[in-house]
Amino acid sequence: MPVYEYRCDTCGQTFELIQKFADEPLTVHEGCGGPVHRLLSAPALQFKGTGWYITDYAKGKSSASSTPATKETPKADAPAKPSTDNK
Ligand SMILES: [Zn+2]
Repeated sequence: MPVYEYRCDTCGQTFELIQKFADEPLTVHEGCGGPVHRLLSAPALQFKGTGWYITDYAKGKSSASSTPATKETPKADAPAKPSTDNK
């Protein structure tokens, strides 16, 4: 579930709220009754994205351990390969 960050326009307090995507955005600060607006919580989204990426990377890494080709992935090494073949 995503975490949304809200800021109260009346008291200036910022707080996080865990909501489902389907949930209505909060409009009233429970603490003081003032209007709140949702902030774009980039960190939360980034965290989720990074997690996905790491999972993906770990998968590729484990499968690559059986294939030494990973070492030759750098583009700088690529030109050297054909010359070795020409031997
Ligand atoms: Zn408030």
